Amino acid sequence: MNTQTKLAIVAILIVIPLTSIVVYGTNTNQQFSSADNSKLQVISSFNPLHEFSQIVGQEKINAILLVPVGVEPHDWEPTIKDVQQMQKSDLIIINGIGFENWVDDLIDNEYDGLIVDTSKGIMVIKSTDEEHGDEEDSDHHLEGDPHIWLNPIFAIKQVGNIALAFSSADPENGEFYMTNAAKYSEELHELDLKIRNELSTCNKDFIAFHDAFSYFADEYGLNQHTIIQSNDSHGEVTAKTLENVISKARELDIKVIFSEETVNTKTSQIIANEIGGKVLVLSPLEIVSDDDYISKMNQNLEHLKEALCRK
Ligand SMILES: [Zn+2]
Repeated sequence: MNTQTKLAIVAILIVIPLTSIVVYGTNTNQQFSSADNSKLQVISSFNPLHEFSQIVGQEKINAILLVPVGVEPHDWEPTIKDVQQMQKSDLIIINGIGFENWVDDLIDNEYDGLIVDTSKGIMVIKSTDEEHGDEEDSDHHLEGDPHIWLNPIFAIKQVGNIALAFSSADPENGEFYMTNAAKYSEELHELDLKIRNELSTCNKDFIAFHDAFSYFADEYGLNQHTIIQSNDSHGEVTAKTLENVISKARELDIKVIFSEETVNTKTSQIIANEIGGKVLVLSPLEIVSDDDYISKMNQNLEHLKEALCRK
């Protein structure tokens, strides 16, 4: 790194604490965070991880969510302001498996906090994105499917990884973090058992909107088919795609076509009309919601039961 870059970074580090007081002066949360240095400053990349961090850290941390409300995290890129905020944090909680494609830039900028990859210890499924061979995407991390949080067993792992990271950054409260994680993991275990039991005797094939449910399907012995053959919900739908999905639905006697909260339901509706079925939401839990992780997963379960457990 040349001297100029180093100076620029030093300048940023010095200027930010000052500007943050000016810019966020009226925001009580920010004032609090700059005043109370005893708390861990934790930034989470997207909503489920933000929720997990808050459950594990509670009042011992200052939790900040990076991707704004209503924004879908797949294609999201941080602004300069976001990067400045990240530079101030003690820990940045990421999903990993290439879901946060901005993380390398942060490392290049000599971020001196801890980047916590919550996918650590999880067996990764190969991404279907690779089949597209899009040149533009070749520098992105497309080595794996990032949607691990939709499998409660892996969510438990992510919660555990967060608790370990908090404990090592703040050993004094280590037991507090580990206890909170253990309690919440019990709830996730119950959720897992419930899904396993309630779907065990039902049909196995479902049509999701984008490829978000591979880990979920693997865990519960289901077969995921998708409208968009991509890990990114913004993939393109062609007439040929529609045709294929319609014939797949007919072949498998599928009567429910899934959609997502953030996408236009028109595509799913066209398919549903064609097969005389209906559209329900199967949420990938990627955007901020009023409901928490467990409630959203229960809603997904209800909709899956409606799709799969017909007599
Ligand atoms: Zn996704």
